Amino acid sequence: FIFLYIMSFKLFKYFICEFLILVSLISCVHESHIEFDTGIDTKNKPINYLNKDKISNGTVSFSSNFLGSRLSEVTYLNDSVASVFFTPENEPINSSPYFAFEASSILPKAFYFIFKYPEAYSHRYIPKIKKQGVWNISDSLTYIITGEEHKLRILLDQTPVTIAAQKIESSVDVKEWIYALSKANPTLFHRAIAGKSKLGKNIEVLDLYKGSPLKKEIIVLLTRQHPPEISGYYAFQTFLSQLTKINSLNKEFFEKYRIIAFPLINPDGVDLGHWRHNAGGVDLNRDWSLYRQPEVKAVVNYINKEVKKSKGKVVIGLDFHSTWNDVFYTNTSREKTTYPNFEKDWFEALESKIPNYKVNEKASDSKTPTSKGWFLKAHNATGITFEIGDETPIESINLIASSAAIELAQLLINYN
Ligand SMILES: [Zn+2]
Repeated sequence: FIFLYIMSFKLFKYFICEFLILVSLISCVHESHIEFDTGIDTKNKPINYLNKDKISNGTVSFSSNFLGSRLSEVTYLNDSVASVFFTPENEPINSSPYFAFEASSILPKAFYFIFKYPEAYSHRYIPKIKKQGVWNISDSLTYIITGEEHKLRILLDQTPVTIAAQKIESSVDVKEWIYALSKANPTLFHRAIAGKSKLGKNIEVLDLYKGSPLKKEIIVLLTRQHPPEISGYYAFQTFLSQLTKINSLNKEFFEKYRIIAFPLINPDGVDLGHWRHNAGGVDLNRDWSLYRQPEVKAVVNYINKEVKKSKGKVVIGLDFHSTWNDVFYTNTSREKTTYPNFEKDWFEALESKIPNYKVNEKASDSKTPTSKGWFLKAHNATGITFEIGDETPIESINLIASSAAIELAQLLINYN
């Protein structure tokens, strides 16, 4: 009996081992690492969490107790001027000196804010101001640049105003947008969660297909790896909204194609008001080789798993960002992609459809582990970083992004 008992225990252990090997094999398939010329250390690094306590001199108060805020220090210089100081989450970091805070005054008064950053950084964003729920861009009367000094003059009263580098689009705002958009076309939208961020927030997926997802070609859309890049997020929103409108072009497009869209890859960074990194202190758009950060890992797993499950193929990946001006970063290697002429055809179509528009394309294969390089290396797909200028007006963003969506759909229909 004891012998039998030992044998069955050994058999049990054997099965457990087999099971573990199988599990690790499956996870290997999902997480196959991709090599890039220049490796980047994307292991966790400490970040500074900011104090969100209210600051007041008895009359004028500052608050940063909201999602997407960033305010490090306030120094009252006199009763109508304060310097406001902003530090990044950690360093080294790309210079995207984001700020966001609220101010109010017990007595109505004109108040000046002088923007300050650590020495390596200078002011970048034109301040956006929200009063009673309405955002406005500061004009030359309120936003005053004198040499190196950037100063804002605001009439304060008891109703708090929000002053921010860009309009705030927190994880809650993104969720509301997803809800409204998916309700407008419920048969197309399949909502899913790809995984959790480092601080446990959902990485949302909008998986768009008609009928069965089986054997469809896939277009992947990503955005907000970098928190302050709001103009790129607006382009993503317009692009996706355009493709989900109920019309004959989209109907035909979704006969053959599927869109997997990730509207907020870095929810922790966005809600913490980060300049660039996630809560692991890492630039997510350098982690597309080893997937050390949970956000990139979740996105990669979702894409790879769905490709396998549906016997589909990723043909195009668009990653929406913001920088100093509008630019499309493309790969030079195209011959192995499904549609090697896509970039050329798409840009020509955009130039012919948008009056006086010239595409600014910068082509080079990614040396560092970016999503653009990952689409090419991992899926032989066209990878494009779709960059919108920090201060590109919303009308231009909407025109470029909606035209880009229409022309992409039209081209992909024509290719088949
Ligand atoms: Zn970016």
